[in-house]
Amino acid sequence: MQPDKIYTGGRIFPAIDESVIDNGAVWVRDGRIAYVGPEDGLPAAAGDSASIDLAGQFLMPGMTETHAHLSFADASPFAIGDTSVEDATIIAVGNADKMLRAGFTSAISFGSTYKIDVALRGAINSGRISGPRLLAAGRDLGATSSNVDSPGGLSQIADGPWALRKAVREQRRDGVNVVKVFIDGEAINPRNPPGELSFCDEEVIAVVDEAHRRKMRVACHARSAAAVKQAVSAQVDFIGHANYLDQAAVDLLAGSKSPVFVGPAIAWEVQYLAQCESLGVSQETVRAQGYEREIEATVASVEKMRAAGIKLVVGGDYGISIAPHGTYAKDLEYFVTLFDMRPAEALLCATRNGGEAFDPSGSLGTLAKGSIADLVLVAGDPLDDITVLQDESRLTVIKSGVANP
Ligand SMILES: [Zn+2]
Repeated sequence: MQPDKIYTGGRIFPAIDESVIDNGAVWVRDGRIAYVGPEDGLPAAAGDSASIDLAGQFLMPGMTETHAHLSFADASPFAIGDTSVEDATIIAVGNADKMLRAGFTSAISFGSTYKIDVALRGAINSGRISGPRLLAAGRDLGATSSNVDSPGGLSQIADGPWALRKAVREQRRDGVNVVKVFIDGEAINPRNPPGELSFCDEEVIAVVDEAHRRKMRVACHARSAAAVKQAVSAQVDFIGHANYLDQAAVDLLAGSKSPVFVGPAIAWEVQYLAQCESLGVSQETVRAQGYEREIEATVASVEKMRAAGIKLVVGGDYGISIAPHGTYAKDLEYFVTLFDMRPAEALLCATRNGGEAFDPSGSLGTLAKGSIADLVLVAGDPLDDITVLQDESRLTVIKSGVANP
């Protein structure tokens, strides 16, 4: 068992709301939070603990990357499934370590090549490698002629409710936590652009019903209003992208019986526009594909979702050449600069909302008595400059009360 620790002399962001406790204290006992509040309110029983002076640092909960692809090898976005299983596995071990060092103590996978996530989760949980707590995904589930209908390690293709139910059962057999399904497509793919639904309603309902009955959750790629409506109607848990929402889609999200967590994952569009030449694609082509418009539409959609109180989460499809592993905290910068959020609001998306998405019982993402002691100490003030989180030399990351070496 680790000794108790008390962190004092810093600014504490409990991530319950946007408030900060100056001269706060956090008492960590057996890997959990035993107290958070003003330093002069520390219980007497905390007196025997080792004291750590934060020296003015900012202490916040560990963040959750909710659109993780740890098995992606920073390859071209046009060649994600091409890395061999051997190379992808070795690279994924390094990615897990990078993600933890970047302040992300939890990750919800949005799709794995091969079965790498499941092996990774086992290695992390047994302490053989360092990495975030991980909800492991299987291969992307997609229909024939969906955006993921390509050879390589990326996808599992099935059509029809029964074939899809079987595919979900196979993922259960493999030990997957999150079934990732492609509902619509990508502007770079003429055979399945956004707005063209690759499944019929009956198929998506079959996937979600089967996954939920088998204790798995469902993450989906859904860009258009039609895709989001199909996803919410089928009761998926996590939606990635949601770029083109009309008010009816937002109302459906807001009225959902169980909370749906939405991650805009805008890094792809921003970096594709900025770096397309490195992929051999001209700026004109990217504009003609509609990516400038996609960013504008996403900004408008996020504004509607904020107004409706939808639970927005951080997570950005990192793991491709133009948005590599390790740069996950850029997502919070996009939330502030593109979506016009207050830095504290972006932090809440990364901590409180992400933690709730990972564990609805409330053990993660906030600093509250009883919650798991996943902490990030920041030499700097992310409420003043959200980009300090991108400098890992300023971060000390603590998972279950233990500092990452
Ligand atoms: Zn993705």
